[in-house]
Amino acid sequence: MIKEILPNIFKIEIPLPGNPLKAINSYVIRDSPRSLIIDTGLNRKECMDVMQAGLGELGVQLKDTDFFITHLHADHFALVSRLATDTSHVHLNQPDAERHARPGVWDEMVAQARVHGFPERELQSAIRDHPGFRYGSRLDMPLSIVRQDDTIEIGEYRFICIETPGHTRGHMCLFEPTNKILFSGDHILGDITPNIQSWSDDWNPLREYLLSLDKVYELDVEVVLPGHRSIFKNYRERIRELQRHHSTRAEEVLSILQKGSKNAFQVASQMSWDIICESGDLFPVAPKWFATGEAIAHLIYLESKNLVSRDQVKGRAIYSLAKLRPKPTRY
Ligand SMILES: [Zn+2]
Repeated sequence: MIKEILPNIFKIEIPLPGNPLKAINSYVIRDSPRSLIIDTGLNRKECMDVMQAGLGELGVQLKDTDFFITHLHADHFALVSRLATDTSHVHLNQPDAERHARPGVWDEMVAQARVHGFPERELQSAIRDHPGFRYGSRLDMPLSIVRQDDTIEIGEYRFICIETPGHTRGHMCLFEPTNKILFSGDHILGDITPNIQSWSDDWNPLREYLLSLDKVYELDVEVVLPGHRSIFKNYRERIRELQRHHSTRAEEVLSILQKGSKNAFQVASQMSWDIICESGDLFPVAPKWFATGEAIAHLIYLESKNLVSRDQVKGRAIYSLAKLRPKPTRY
């Protein structure tokens, strides 16, 4: 369960029961007087038990530990609300911290889902069973805000904060240039594709995500330590694969709209899916929720490229192919 990656850098696999992601990778950088834990797990007993056992084996005390959270999603963030002590710094980026503090986020998501055609009868159960709702964190936790190029020094390691918005508004990676390692959170995964979702009209997550992939491409990375599944090395090749994946997805959405105007829920139901990252327990409504969020992200992106147009019909968003479409070389 615990693996030493580099001297005093350990990976603990925290289980995510019933979740297709299977586990989240929590990384412990052990040092004195303070250790650092990168990402934590859901706020549920199964995660807490494995984390406590792992820290016990490593001899790491929570009272001497700080935290870096790559992004706000509950599988990375929520358990820290039980792990942090009065002396802990919990480092998080500003946009995700603001969202964490904002009331009514779930209501906004429901309203958006409704606009995009999510079935009314399944809306409440989608939220009730969402892992972020079921296993979320305390709201009153003090946070230490980190920004682009801030550094965190632990023992012989010097980590640089890299803002990589897209997967969430403020997603952040940690880069260690001496050993050329990148803690990539859910920005770059090796075995599965990070899920890019939108539940609001005021930003374009897929555009941000693709810009963030371009941004980190030049980093000199030898080993990627991702938030889920295997550690991997083919960094730039993997970035290219993820770019191609979204380009193919965009083409797929356009070809679905070729057959007629649709709302995002209908588009999602015609897209092809293998694993849906960030999904919750295996209940039937969850895949629909995450698929719809991803379809919305692609539609907003294509709309921003003038390839798709959006009409509002009786409070519902309907997407069509734009009448005069430019011919882009890369979606
Ligand atoms: Zn995530």
